[in-house]
Amino acid sequence: MAKTNHGSQIVLKDPELIQISSKLESGERLSSEDGVKLFQTDDLNGLGQLANAQRELRHGANTYFVRNLHINYTNICSNGCRFCSFYSRRNGPQPYTLDYEAVKNRILAYRGERITEVHIVGGINKALPYGYYIGLLDTVKEALPGCHIKAFTAVELQHMAQISGLSLLDTLEDLKVHGLSSIPGGGIEVSSRRVHDTLFPNKLNSDQWKEVSRCVAKAGLTQYATMLYGHIETIQERVDHLLFLRELQDECHHIVTFTPLAFHPEDTLLSSLPHTSGIDDLKMIAVSRLMLDNISHIKTFWVMNTPEVSQTALWYGADDMDGTVLRYEITYSDDRPQDNEQGLSYYKMVRLVRQAHRIPVERDSFYMPLPLDEEIINDPS
Ligand code: SF4
Repeated sequence: MAKTNHGSQIVLKDPELIQISSKLESGERLSSEDGVKLFQTDDLNGLGQLANAQRELRHGANTYFVRNLHINYTNICSNGCRFCSFYSRRNGPQPYTLDYEAVKNRILAYRGERITEVHIVGGINKALPYGYYIGLLDTVKEALPGCHIKAFTAVELQHMAQISGLSLLDTLEDLKVHGLSSIPGGGIEVSSRRVHDTLFPNKLNSDQWKEVSRCVAKAGLTQYATMLYGHIETIQERVDHLLFLRELQDECHHIVTFTPLAFHPEDTLLSSLPHTSGIDDLKMIAVSRLMLDNISHIKTFWVMNTPEVSQTALWYGADDMDGTVLRYEITYSDDRPQDNEQGLSYYKMVRLVRQAHRIPVERDSFYMPLPLDEEIINDPS
């Protein structure tokens, strides 16, 4: 019987989990059928314990977070994905595109937060020339020298390659020269062709996304991976997506973190769908930890999972809480619609992790630990 780092026995009530536990103990890779059984189990505590054991093997009680700022430079988008509440449309959000002055002012407004990472994504705004993206990176670098720029999903990268007149690889090399440091997840949502054709037919399909991702690896860039779940996807399609990423990682070794993103239906064309439950969110984290044996980190994105579910997720396989975020325009919190000030202070982040009896570790974008800022922790004012 496996033990956690705290020495406690794993107690499993579901015979299917007992079999899967034996596989994990012997280092055998879990199969597609195992993935489905993990999602279907009623033994949530058993599932969580299995995932937690794998989390603790890798990271002990450490829980990582980064001081980051999100910038969503435009909400004008020609793709019109059915699950998206962000893009501007009639009876929806008003269109905007940030000019460089606005980007610079956004960063300077958070000067006191000691941000180490700027996370940039936006819509496919066909009015923007390739030079806009170069200027965007230059502006961020100038406003915050030394920061890590995690920017542009595979969808944006493919669009930029189309308008740059360069190959995708040369486009990536060019963006790197101007400060691009890594690529966020997103753009694929779920690898199922059925879901693609139903919800986001104008975006890359999974084969095309994989090609972009291979090119990202070839350019020597780290990539993050995600899955949008809780809409029309089946359990099998969730498992297929995890296996799709596992296979890609076996080949390219450039994915550092996986983040399951809970779907928020409000203000989308799927607004009649219910929200995911906390149980589903925890299962998603736990199954991801167990299936993705070749991806180091599993993140609970507190903006979508809520800080409270994220605290619990730290015992269900997650070892990363994302970051302070500060602003987020892609989804809004349920109780504060249209409020894009969705930040957690450094003090609150550390407190949330400690309340969950885990060890907070501030990290850089490549998971190098940084010393905790005791000054802020001791004086949150
Ligand atoms: Fe555009 Fe991205 Fe929204 Fe799709 S998800 S409509 S690509 S902004």
